[in-house]
Amino acid sequence: MNTYDKLINILKASAIQFYTYTPRNLKPKSLVLKGIRGGYDETEVLTAITDLNLPNTKIIKVRKLIFNKNSPDKYHFIVSISNDSLAAPLVKVKRLLSQTCRWERLRKPIVFQCRRCQQIGHASSNCFLKPTCSKCAGEHEVVNCPIKDETDKSKQKCVNCNSLGHSAAYKGCPMIKLASKLNKQIKQQKANTNKTVLNTISRKVTPGYSFANALVGNQTHLQAPLHSHAREETTLPINKQYSCSTSNNNCSSSPNIEELFANLKNEIIKEIQDVNAKIINNSIRIDHILAQLNMD
Ligand SMILES: [Zn+2]
Ligand SMILES: [Zn+2]
Ligand SMILES: [Zn+2]
Repeated sequence: MNTYDKLINILKASAIQFYTYTPRNLKPKSLVLKGIRGGYDETEVLTAITDLNLPNTKIIKVRKLIFNKNSPDKYHFIVSISNDSLAAPLVKVKRLLSQTCRWERLRKPIVFQCRRCQQIGHASSNCFLKPTCSKCAGEHEVVNCPIKDETDKSKQKCVNCNSLGHSAAYKGCPMIKLASKLNKQIKQQKANTNKTVLNTISRKVTPGYSFANALVGNQTHLQAPLHSHAREETTLPINKQYSCSTSNNNCSSSPNIEELFANLKNEIIKEIQDVNAKIINNSIRIDHILAQLNMD
């Protein structure tokens, strides 16, 4: 059992009220199955998909999505597969239960609202708080609410904004509107940050300037005016461009290639001298071997 499950078990056993989030690697992938008609239920759809024996696709759950209680014949199915499953084999299925079907990505709502406690930001499947009624803000599930009249909104009380006249499920609630606005702003900020990072990376990438070029310093900037950025860099003073290749360079990230070559050259000379000394010291023996091999 992993730490996440252990913690949940401890909290449940201790009767602690809490809510949590599904770890990213366990979050199922969900697809919308459209086009199935004929009053099929979730189990029938699940069985029909399972019978296809799709490779690497583990179906976790099938949920019927009815848009309007008054029009029960209008529905889609939400098919959830495990996080490590492939969606592609599923999307390739064009016929199911003798009908033509299609698949779409499930669009997630901007604001998540818990159907158990009515709080904004987590799902009921991860909620272990006391149930709160969406209609009257009482400590009971909505099915047990004493308010049976759906049309009279005056008795309804929203637990999130604490005002009378609407339920906690009302999309026009100021708290839901605020959460929606904040989420949109966060999304926009994330998009802007990603854009900035991408721009920063692209500025560091200069066409025609390879890693090998980088190792020998900035010399090759002179021969890479392929891009406007490269052109900008060629306007640097020449001595600055060569700063990494001078012996007293102050560029700590690039090794001095001339020094490396000098060291290598010294090592090769030393090796040759050693071999030469061995030949001289063993010249009699070598002559003898060469004579035996009839070689001069
Ligand atoms: Zn909740
Ligand atoms: Zn109630
Ligand atoms: Zn409200």
